[in-house]
Amino acid sequence: MKNILFVASECVPFIKTGGLADVVGALPGALNRNQYDVRVVLPNYRCIKPSLREKFHYLMHFNMDLGELGSVYVGVMEYEHEGIKYYFIDNEHYFSDPKPYGDLHWDIEKFCYFSKAALAILPVIGFHPDVIHCHDWQAGLVPVFLHTLFKPNPFFQNIRTVMTIHNLRFQGVWDIPTIKMYTGLPDWVFTPDRLEFKKDANMLKGGLVFADRITTVSRTYAEEIKLQYYGEGLDGLLRAKADSLSGIVNGIDYRAYDPERDSKLPEHYGVTSFKQGKAACKAALQQELDLGHDPNVMLIGMITRLTDQKGLDLLTYVLERLLGSAVQLVVIGTGDAGYENLLRRCEWEHHGQVSACIMFDEARAHQLYAAADAILMPSRFEPCGLTQLIAMRYGALPIVRETGGLCDTVQPFNEIENTGTGFSFACYNADDMLNVINYAQKVYYDNRPAWDEMVRRAMQADFSWNNSAREYERLYDSLR
Ligand code: ADP
Repeated sequence: MKNILFVASECVPFIKTGGLADVVGALPGALNRNQYDVRVVLPNYRCIKPSLREKFHYLMHFNMDLGELGSVYVGVMEYEHEGIKYYFIDNEHYFSDPKPYGDLHWDIEKFCYFSKAALAILPVIGFHPDVIHCHDWQAGLVPVFLHTLFKPNPFFQNIRTVMTIHNLRFQGVWDIPTIKMYTGLPDWVFTPDRLEFKKDANMLKGGLVFADRITTVSRTYAEEIKLQYYGEGLDGLLRAKADSLSGIVNGIDYRAYDPERDSKLPEHYGVTSFKQGKAACKAALQQELDLGHDPNVMLIGMITRLTDQKGLDLLTYVLERLLGSAVQLVVIGTGDAGYENLLRRCEWEHHGQVSACIMFDEARAHQLYAAADAILMPSRFEPCGLTQLIAMRYGALPIVRETGGLCDTVQPFNEIENTGTGFSFACYNADDMLNVINYAQKVYYDNRPAWDEMVRRAMQADFSWNNSAREYERLYDSLR
């Protein structure tokens, strides 16, 4: 039996702002329970749903030294969910905000504390991991602490670490004196070959330097981040560590995303019944969002953070031209105020054709996956992307830019061979995107049998965790 500890800042069903939560929520349960005892450490955010939070029970508390901040309180709450043990680091000072992240300076202090506390609780709870699997910059300091402040303690010998990059854009960077103050880390780690990054300290970089293995969430993204264009300033380091870097594509939780059982849908459907099922879901959503009641119009959805990463600038550029054609557009998302306002205005100007749902709403997102004919995802970069995987499962064909995980998971339509599960374009260019949307429309309106076959292929493609969980198991086993 191998002990594996996940350290992360979000996890379904407790707290979610994006795909990271889906992955941390699903992967532990997908690993072979007979061979791996997987436990997860998370912050005890006050914004976790009360119905869940009130079930956590208090395990213990102690005080921990935190750099110049002195002695700080660490509480440990425990909760077992679907056979997995979760530990929640409790500290009201740090985790009382209405959202998990907000002000970066505050987030930096919070996750310096969290990373250290995640290690400090281990001897106290009596769990000795063989492997600590750290997710994104919020857990980046775990391998650094392990190789420095915790090194003299025999309990922390023989622990290996994996650092997974879910998004290289976010790195947790602040000035060196501040990070030193929040962590108490020794001077020798703040050098250009370790945490120093353009004169500042970089928490993710620390994780990448000190971890035994680095993974990211698709093979293509693992290659891309070694290039300057995608490397976010760390491409040199990632090239140097290429031997320990690999890509393992994410899956989705087939129980949470199942159009045959999804309680959030007005009608259930499977591969053999998607035509009626999706039509009913489309009619219900059109009614709910005050869109034209037209069963025949192509409904394009976007479910996304409203940022440049997700290609919102491309959409902005061709929006009026796109809306000149026979489509309805529904966007569910939150993010940059500029995009939020632009979409609200667009809804007002194109009432009945466009709906801008500026909100984070799981139920509505599921209803849109079911109602949409296509899901647009023209990302500038995309480590893996779960939206296109969920879309395919719900029979909404993805229209994507060929980057990162989108490359690895969406097979573009080939009308000669009648293969493919979606549509794609290569260059980050708005006209190229519009062209491929127009092409998708042409197939939708003029060649429905080919479209429907593609829907069936997309719904049947296997994006469960089965394959990827085996790859993670092999990775853990290779760490001795
Ligand atoms: P990222 O993690 O970069 O935001 P992913 O495609 O990997 O993008 O994952 C996004 C996840 O968050 C998907 O499960 C998607 O359905 C969900 N999501 C994104 N925005 C919203 C929203 N506004 N409301 C509900 N769910 C959302």
